[in-house]
Amino acid sequence: MATPLQPVRGMNDILPQDEALWEKLESTAEALFRAYGYHRIRIPVIERTELFSRSIGELTDIVEKEMYTFEDRGGDSVTLRPEATAGVVRACLSNGLLHNQQQKLWCSGPMFRREKPQKGRYRQFHQLSVEALGFDEPEIDAELIVMSARLWRELGLDHVRLEMNSLGTPESRAVYKDALVRYFSRHLDALDADSLRRLERNPLRILDSKNPDMAELIAGAPVLTEHLDDASRAHFERVQQLLGDCGVEAELNPRLVRGLDYYTRTVFEWLTDRLGAQSAVCSGGRYDGLVAQLGGRDTPAVGWALGVERIVELLRLEEGDPGIRAPDVFIVSVGDAARRAAFAAAEQLRSRVPALTVSIGAPAAGFKAQMRRADKSGARYAVIIGDDELAAGTLGLKPLRVDAPQQSLNLEQLVSQLSSAPERRE
Ligand code: ATP
Ligand code: MG
Repeated sequence: MATPLQPVRGMNDILPQDEALWEKLESTAEALFRAYGYHRIRIPVIERTELFSRSIGELTDIVEKEMYTFEDRGGDSVTLRPEATAGVVRACLSNGLLHNQQQKLWCSGPMFRREKPQKGRYRQFHQLSVEALGFDEPEIDAELIVMSARLWRELGLDHVRLEMNSLGTPESRAVYKDALVRYFSRHLDALDADSLRRLERNPLRILDSKNPDMAELIAGAPVLTEHLDDASRAHFERVQQLLGDCGVEAELNPRLVRGLDYYTRTVFEWLTDRLGAQSAVCSGGRYDGLVAQLGGRDTPAVGWALGVERIVELLRLEEGDPGIRAPDVFIVSVGDAARRAAFAAAEQLRSRVPALTVSIGAPAAGFKAQMRRADKSGARYAVIIGDDELAAGTLGLKPLRVDAPQQSLNLEQLVSQLSSAPERRE
């Protein structure tokens, strides 16, 4: 026999036993996005490479070393998307969605980054993300943040905390960059190779270094908050007030710069201490320059993205392993004629009681084996059809989770009983 193939490193299969956690996050988020008036947009997984190098920034970790970039057979350089914002902005521009319009959008799907795989850090991972385009008011920054806070609340997640910073405008940041370059230039010996390369072209990136040897030097660097322009300061204060009014606590972290270049003004990150080294569960901020940078008109915008795998792990810590969802009804039949009748009866039940999960096991197996499978499936009822039932035109309804006798019912009675079963799943 040939050796079974393994998945590509860092890519995961998401198995049915985890589906309940994924589904909980996705359906809760979807309902929430709808409640805030955000519309779903679906965008391609592959984009031209240029889209990401122009938006995320040439000197970021993502663009420098993490993108899955290749030439397609036509010779174009394309990239598997490492994040959604650039693609969403591109889609808005391609489809004229920003002509005298504002957009509130959400998006979901796999992202690809060739990082070192470890628990909570994968090469294919999933994000749920929201973007508000065309809004410059601090209310929208705050709306997006309270929306994320509400999502944690609705999911029952307590162990997350919010950090925020303001990156100001490109102009105020230029002043700050000079101050940073002066500071780091005095400590050239202590800079690692990445940081040395970034010193000239993108010194802010040094603050985002994950190298622990750089931590002390970074801790002593000047902070951006001292160089903030007045308008950005007022904007940031207003965001904080609005959050405070809604009871969302935030900690100011003047060194938070985020791993992508396109952010301006508000940036934030939700962190947890329950996932080891992978502490960021959701992050985002304002990116007022990005639309113009990608060829559109000047359009303010703000957004965030959450890491689905990390939130699912937090849910698992709270709720335990969900396991495979059990069917409501498991059909068991004995004999060829009954097997045929059971097949049609299953279809009847599915159309008459829409929310019901009806499973047929292996009807060629013996009665005992089928009942064992019915029990193992976790189903609440077995519906049994044998010779007697066939002759009488009835079906047997046997509760599997409580000690109760089997009932003999006609189809109408069965439908009405299963429709009104109190614990039936919606
Ligand atoms: P980190 O600091 O952990 O590398 P990041 O700043 O690169 O995160 P973003 O680009 O802001 O992350 O993406 C938003 C969210 O997506 C993160 O908060 C995180 O939860 C998740 N995420 C990012 N990279 C990965 C990955 N390789 N595997 C799993 N989840 C990820
Ligand atoms: Mg990263």
